[in-house]
Amino acid sequence: MAKGLRDAQGQPIRCSAETFDYSYSYYQCQRNASIIRNGKPYCGTHDPVRRAEKRKARDEAWDARYRHEEELRTQRKAEFVRRIAGIRVLPEDEFEKAIAALVDEIISAGCSWYK
Ligand SMILES: [Zn+2]
Repeated sequence: MAKGLRDAQGQPIRCSAETFDYSYSYYQCQRNASIIRNGKPYCGTHDPVRRAEKRKARDEAWDARYRHEEELRTQRKAEFVRRIAGIRVLPEDEFEKAIAALVDEIISAGCSWYK
């Protein structure tokens, strides 16, 4: 069976989606339609149901990544707090050196934890 929808004359039906090119002029999608949604023909790329699914998957992937980064950040923060708490018993001059070393570490770590 040929892929795509055909009209009564057996001709391929074009996707009804409007899209735009690099110059931002709108044109009708050039592809043949493979599905009807709400009475309108769409190609696989512009199928609104498929697009919504892809968007949802992308959003979920971003949410998962965000949660992962938040978790890493919380862990790193707790680790630094623990280390600072550990060095506060040092004599003052050593404490200052230890704090400076930790600050250097924090600055050079930057956002590279988010990997
Ligand atoms: Zn299309």
